[in-house]
Amino acid sequence: MNQPVQIQVNGRQYRLPQQPTVIVCVDGCQFEYLEAAAAAGVAPYLKHLLAEGAVFQGDCVVPSFTNPNNLSIVTGAPPAVHGICGNYFFDPAADGGRGAEVMMNDPAYLRAGTVLAAAADAGASVAVVTAKDKLRKLLGHRMKGICFSSEKADQVTLAENGIEDVLGLVGMPVPDVYSAALSEFVFAAGVRLLETRHIDLMYLSTTDYVQHKWAPGTEGANAFYAMMDKYLRRMDELGAVIGLTADHGMNAKHDPKTGQPNVIYLQDLLDDWLGKGVDAGGARVILPITDPYVVHHGALGSYATIYLPRDIDADAIGQRIAAMPGIDVVLTNAQACARFELPPDRVGDLVVVSDQSVVLGTSASRHDLTGLTVPLRSHGGISEQTVPLLFNRKTEGIPGKARLRNFDILDVALNHV
Ligand SMILES: [Zn+2]
Repeated sequence: MNQPVQIQVNGRQYRLPQQPTVIVCVDGCQFEYLEAAAAAGVAPYLKHLLAEGAVFQGDCVVPSFTNPNNLSIVTGAPPAVHGICGNYFFDPAADGGRGAEVMMNDPAYLRAGTVLAAAADAGASVAVVTAKDKLRKLLGHRMKGICFSSEKADQVTLAENGIEDVLGLVGMPVPDVYSAALSEFVFAAGVRLLETRHIDLMYLSTTDYVQHKWAPGTEGANAFYAMMDKYLRRMDELGAVIGLTADHGMNAKHDPKTGQPNVIYLQDLLDDWLGKGVDAGGARVILPITDPYVVHHGALGSYATIYLPRDIDADAIGQRIAAMPGIDVVLTNAQACARFELPPDRVGDLVVVSDQSVVLGTSASRHDLTGLTVPLRSHGGISEQTVPLLFNRKTEGIPGKARLRNFDILDVALNHV
């Protein structure tokens, strides 16, 4: 057998795959979803993986949001290295230096290369399929190969996506952006790609629409994992090494009696404490969960960052917030960036993390909660940090009880199975 080609990305070594390797990021996959579906008998392949595969618990990146974690997984590095610490941030350089709140989904904000791009440069055949298009450009940045989203599967071109006629390949219509089918399309496309061409390395990333609505073991959740089960089994039959993880967990964030979300509106509080709003030079609360698709969570998560006026004592404000019920931890910029490995220039003066059952808002008037048709489930905090890492092969050189990071998954799948 030939010696595997080695690549080095962000200070880590990876062997290029000698058999098709599929990394799956199941958005919002709290461990309990897998266990509940396996126990209910609806996901026999996942049950087999949990019993016979290599199974680890790991920690995702905090803020436990989708983009920071997807980018960590594909770069093998924390946000301090790749720069993506949310969907949304306050860019001091925007608007001619006056600063503005902007989306962080443009590849211009990415500060590190991906393992996917490096593998493709080294000659591997690489494919990426995401549910939402917002992630596609970040994940496929400078990558030669196939890269498309289910959301815009009808708009692919050879020049932009490395593939044509995805709808013909998959045999499914373009799903609604708020649907379980958006994720099913990702799996179906992954299977069809493996069936129709040579793929060395594939990255599949779903959406957490189902997990925001359905708790582990409920009908909607089990139906999703039963769907996923069939496609994973098929990929296994096609000879793929499979590594499955999540970008973050998911928890109920509402009052069980009333079904109303448990929200602390930080901007309203700070406007009151400082006697002025952000437009008058007051504090600015940023919720990095904010993105164009807020219907299922109302832009409410368990992580916020706050920019304070220069003359305000950040420690005193931090202590006042930390003393409130429902707050897990308040950290200064330096403390948060050290603990969570974040880029200091994209984080405010304070970082606020709320408890497992509580979310953080800006002003009550700025959150449209009419789209919350079921009681709120969300993420973002330390309480959603535990994620599964599952492999359909035995691993070598990793202690069975090792606590991994979700962004170790490429290392494990390429170097240790
Ligand atoms: Zn997510």
